This record gives sequence, structure tokens and C-alpha cells, in this order.
Amino acid sequence: RTLEDDPLFNAGRGAVMTIDGTIELDASIMDGKTMRGGGVASLRRSSNPISVARAVMDETPHLILGGLDADRFAVEQGFGAVEPEYFFTQRRFEAIQKRRASLGLPPLENPARRPSEGTVGAVAIDSQGNLAAATSTGGRSGKMAGRIGDSPILGAGTYAENGAVAVSGTGIGEEFIRHSAAARVGWLVKDLGVTVDDAVRRVLHDTLKPGDGGMIAVGRDGEPVMRYTTGAMVSGYAKASGTVMTMIWEDSPRVTD
Ligand code: ASP
Repeated sequence: RTLEDDPLFNAGRGAVMTIDGTIELDASIMDGKTMRGGGVASLRRSSNPISVARAVMDETPHLILGGLDADRFAVEQGFGAVEPEYFFTQRRFEAIQKRRASLGLPPLENPARRPSEGTVGAVAIDSQGNLAAATSTGGRSGKMAGRIGDSPILGAGTYAENGAVAVSGTGIGEEFIRHSAAARVGWLVKDLGVTVDDAVRRVLHDTLKPGDGGMIAVGRDGEPVMRYTTGAMVSGYAKASGTVMTMIWEDSPRVTD
């Protein structure tokens, strides 16, 4: 929720826009102990899609809710609704105006009154070895309105299974869905006994194409894995020992104890 609230990231407030200047948010969460999970797609009025995904997991028999009815479910669950302006950021608006110009489309006029659309991820292990993963996003900048990416889909953008791995992905959602990218990491670890680091490396380099995206993951040994084939990926971890590490690209680690 903290990452969704921060306008720096493509999730919740500050999410990227569709080609129409709207904001449509996708998210999912998965509990590796029970393998239960929940997802939401194309939310327009919910400030914290990850909480709504959690409610889908906890309060419904379903896995994914989408669109207006998912926003209504969020209100019923007590999460409220925000005005579309809440999500708006000038830099996302300028990005979409540029994209529209490059496609020969007329500029958008009144962005702040339009309903808006976001990727952040988190993976965790607790002291009992339970694994969990969560992902939240505005999707790809300039996507078609109505487009749903990998982030709300268990096995594509998010996956957690105790004894194997918790993983969250970012990148070109269509490729993550096509290759069941997150679940594939789990299968490599569980079925083939590959290390989490090697499984993530194989999926990013051998299954997906260079530039398709990145993943954060943690396995039962608790060692964080953060890899990407894009230009950079902002990531970090905190350990029970008190060590905190943040990283923008691989040769820029900053460790504090
Ligand atoms: N994977 C997200 C999607 O395709 C976007 C992202 O990670 O930036 O919706």
C-alpha cells in the first residue's frame, strides 16, 4: 500500500495512463501456504488495489474481479472510492500526450476530470517459512482502455507456493501471461530442483526475451533474488537481522544495518 500511495511508482497514485488518458489498475496477491489468492483488474476508483485483491482472496469464492463491479465490491468492503483526479500526475499525462502525438491522435484536453489507471511488487517469507507475493500496477503506458496485463493473474505476474518460491514480475504483461512466467519459476524450483536465483535467471533470459522485464523472488532459504533484463529496476529488501538494502541497478547496492 505504501508503494501504491507513492506517486513515484506505476501503481495506485501516479499510475500510467491508457491511450484515452484514463487510469485502470490491476493487482493480485497469493498466499503460498494455502495457495489461495485474489486479483483485481481494471479498477478505476480504488486507491489501494492490493487491499481489494486481498479481499477477493479472503471474502469471495473467486480469484479475479474486474471493472466497475470490482470497484463496487471495494466500496462494499469498506475501502471507499476516490475521484479519478487522485491518480493523476502531470508526468504521466505528458507521456500520454506524447504517445498520442506520435500516433497522430489529437491531444487530450481535460485530463484531471477523466477516470485514470499502474507496477510494484513485494515478496515475503515469515519465521515459519510461509511465502507470499503481491503485485500492483497501472499496466503499460498507452495501453488500450480495457486491456488487462499479467499483474492480476496468479501464475503470470504473481505466484507463491510454500517450499518453492514467492515471485512478483514487472514488464511486458502479454509475455508474462503467454509463458506463465511466475508459475514457471515455481515449477523450475519445485519440480526440477533449480535454485530460485537460477530459475528466475532462466525464465528472464531463456523463456522471455531480453528487455521483457524483471522479477523479485524469495525461496525457502530466505535469500532475496532481484533480476531484470530491462535498463534498470528499483528494488530492495529488509532482513530480520536489520539489514536493509536498496538498489536501482545491479552495481548500485546501498546496504544499511
Ligand atoms: N507487467 C505490467 C503489465 O503488463 C506492467 C509493468 O510491469 O510495468 O501490466
